[in-house]
Amino acid sequence: MSVLHDPAVLSGLEQWRELPARQQPHWPDPEALHAATDRLETSPPLVFAGEADRLRELLASASRGEAFLLQGGDCAETFSELTADNIRDKVKTILQMAVVLTYGASMPIVKMGRMAGQYAKPRSSDTESRDGVTLPAYRGDIINGYDFTEKARVPDPQRLLDAYHNSATTLNLIRAFTQGGFADLRRVHEWNRGFMENPAYAQYDAFAGEIDRAIRFMAAAGADFDALRTVEFFSSHEGLLLDYERPLTRIDSRTGQPYDCSAHFLWIGERTRQLDGAHVDFFARVRNPIGVKLGPTSTVEDALSLIDRLNPDGEPGRLTFITRMGASKIRDVLPALVEGVTADGRPVTWVCDPMHGNGITSATGYKTRRFGDVIEEVRGFFEVHRSLGTVPGGLHVELTGSDVTEVLGGSEEIDDHALTRRYETLVDPRLNHQQSLEMAFLVAEMLRG
Ligand code: PEP
Ligand code: MN
Repeated sequence: MSVLHDPAVLSGLEQWRELPARQQPHWPDPEALHAATDRLETSPPLVFAGEADRLRELLASASRGEAFLLQGGDCAETFSELTADNIRDKVKTILQMAVVLTYGASMPIVKMGRMAGQYAKPRSSDTESRDGVTLPAYRGDIINGYDFTEKARVPDPQRLLDAYHNSATTLNLIRAFTQGGFADLRRVHEWNRGFMENPAYAQYDAFAGEIDRAIRFMAAAGADFDALRTVEFFSSHEGLLLDYERPLTRIDSRTGQPYDCSAHFLWIGERTRQLDGAHVDFFARVRNPIGVKLGPTSTVEDALSLIDRLNPDGEPGRLTFITRMGASKIRDVLPALVEGVTADGRPVTWVCDPMHGNGITSATGYKTRRFGDVIEEVRGFFEVHRSLGTVPGGLHVELTGSDVTEVLGGSEEIDDHALTRRYETLVDPRLNHQQSLEMAFLVAEMLRG
């Protein structure tokens, strides 16, 4: 029998349907759902298996301290914000951050967007009430609409196809930007010089000056800048909506193994990582590199059981733990977790999400975070790994390339009042372009140690 048609592999990919799956919508029209998933099943893959394999190798390097991951993008992408300018500005912000981090780390930075598929959101409640009216919660543009009307909030399977096409458009532009000369190191460096002209960032002058000298040294020494005109850039999103992930999963013709071709990297969220649940079962069966978010109540036992399920053979780069503990807890809770996992011996890539453990509500009523808390969690992450002799492998951030005002603080001192100016996110607050670059300078100092 051909390995490509191993019935056990294919039936295994349906096993999640028998298991409890949290955070899934109740589609009102099963026939419309089937029509949409049938269409997805026959649509071309968005990424290739070989690209996912390449990323797995890079994440393995990050687990050994030979590379560092920068994963960034919106909490929730939306269809209406899918414009060329928004995509360009996000890619540009990540590339600018990556140059600063490359210098600080003296290591390659693995660049990954929370982009081209980050459309499904877990919610703390199934419903939302306003002024005495209760409707289903907004679950992301791939499921329902944000408008607070009964019609918009009904899950609509046509959105699966819209999300697929919007992801394809986004990826197409990302590939064009990162392969077509836009990512040229000299150009990215010029953008960073532009950023440094703002006197608010004087504290980073010395560091920026070092990078500038390093680039002039490279030029003088005859470095091949033409080889630095393109970069590898990977896509990722939370693997939440299984009615989307399953039909985009394909059997790789080279190996007979299933790959989820909706993105290079998928992560399982803090709310859906139950060991006996649908998400862990499904993602255990695909070959992509997989992440799992771990919040402050995670135990060593949880982590080891997740390794048993998702990476039983200890393949390097296969499993990333994205910790999101909160600035005030990370130094207390991360050490035992890292020690327990390290003692097991199977490798994981440790990544810090300094966003999701630091949510607050501003005096003016906005869901926000403090820039200082975000930085403090990253600092704690480095301290814990340094003290244990383990490897801090990367950073996972919610950011955007524009001038929104959603996160408090930073050198431009966004305060409670400023949040009212450009608060645009539909779900979680994002670092704006300036705050993202500022973070890169601060983290680069930490990477330098
Ligand atoms: C997110 O990344 O937007 C998210 C919901 O994170 P977590 O699963 O860590 O809560
Ligand atoms: Mn979020």
